[in-house]
Amino acid sequence: MILILTPNTSADSADYRQLTDYLGNLPNISFRTHQERGSAQTLTEIYLIGNTAALSAADMETLPSVERVVRISEEYRILGRHHDDQRPTEFDYNGVRFAQDNLNVFAGLCAVDTPEHVEIMMRALRDNGQVCTRMGAYKPRTSPYAFQGHGKACLPYVFELAGKYDIKVIAMEVTHESHVNEIRETLRQTGNPTGVMLQIGTRNTQNFELLKIVGRQTEFPVLLKRGFGITLDESLNAAEYLASEGNRKVIFGLRGMKTNMGDPHRNLVDFAHVPTVKRLTRMPVCIDPSHSVGGRNRAPDGALEVMHATAQGVISGANMILVDFHPNPGKALVDGPQALLLEELPLFLDDVRIAREAYEKRIQLARRPLH
Ligand code: PEP
Ligand code: MN
Repeated sequence: MILILTPNTSADSADYRQLTDYLGNLPNISFRTHQERGSAQTLTEIYLIGNTAALSAADMETLPSVERVVRISEEYRILGRHHDDQRPTEFDYNGVRFAQDNLNVFAGLCAVDTPEHVEIMMRALRDNGQVCTRMGAYKPRTSPYAFQGHGKACLPYVFELAGKYDIKVIAMEVTHESHVNEIRETLRQTGNPTGVMLQIGTRNTQNFELLKIVGRQTEFPVLLKRGFGITLDESLNAAEYLASEGNRKVIFGLRGMKTNMGDPHRNLVDFAHVPTVKRLTRMPVCIDPSHSVGGRNRAPDGALEVMHATAQGVISGANMILVDFHPNPGKALVDGPQALLLEELPLFLDDVRIAREAYEKRIQLARRPLH
C-alpha cells in the first residue's frame, strides 16, 4: 500500500510526525519513505510493507497529511500502474520532457569513432531540429578482440560538441560504476554543456549490482534495455531495481529478442509490447529498431525495413526512438551495416511524424463512443 501525502508536506510538521508515529505502531507493518523533488513541489510517498491486507484504505485516507491511498495489487511496486493509480508517467531532464504521451528521437552513432564523425552527426541533428542523440563510448562486444569503444578518452569532445550544437541529452551505455563516475566528472570539467541518459544494455539487464549503483544516483535518468533472452516480467523487475534504489527517471527500451525465429532480422522485433509495458508500468517506452532489425534491407514497397519497424513502434505509442545513424557507415567501427545515412535523417523524421500523427488519430478513434 502506498500513502501519497499532500504536496509539500514537511517532515518537520506535527501532522507528519503524528502520521509516522501511528504507522510505527501498526503491528506487522514497516514503512519506507520516498521524496520526489520537482521544480514546483515536493511529493512524498510512504510505502507500507507487510500485512497491509489488514488495513482499510478508507481509514488510511483519513490520517493527517494523507491525500490518497494506492493499494498495490501487482508487482513493480514503484514503477507499476496500480488500480486507481494517478501517479505521474513523466519526468523532465535537462529541459526535455520524457513521458508516456510524447515522443523523443535519439538518432546518433552506435559507437563514437572520430571527433569529425561526432561533429557531422551533431550538426545534422541540430539542423533537423533535434536535441537528443545516442553516442556509445563504452561498448560491450561479443569478441574481446573487437573495438571496445573509446571510453573516457572521447567524453570531453563528445560533451563539448553536444554543447556547441545544442544537444540536451545523450544516451550512453555504461557497464560499470567507473563509467558513471567518468561521465559525471567529465561533464563537470567541461562545464555541463549537455546531459546524459545512462543506458543499461541488454547484456546487463539483470546485472543487479550495476542496477543498484545506477539506481542509487538520481542525477542521470536511465534507459533500461529489455533483456534479450528473459521474460518481460523479469525485465520489468530489473527496472524496478532502479526505482527501489531511488531513481524513478527510468525509460524501458524494447530492442528485439534473441532467437532465430526472427531471422533474417538480427532480433525478433517485439514492438507489439509497447502498449503492454505502458499498461503495466508508468515508464515511457523506447524502441530500438536498429538493434532489432539489424540491417538495411529495403522492402519491395521501397521503404527500409528499419523504417517499417520504427513506424510499427510509433504507431502503437512508443515514446522514444533510439536509432543508429552514421556519416560513413563503411567506416563505422561498430554496427555499420544497420546504420542509416545522414541524407536519410530528414526522411526518417518525416516518416516518424506520419506514424505519430496516425497514432494520435487512432487514439481519438479508440475514444469515440460506441453507438
Ligand atoms: C546499443 O544500443 O548500442 C546496444 C548495444 O544495444 P543492446 O544493449 O540493446 O544490444
Ligand atoms: Mn550497436
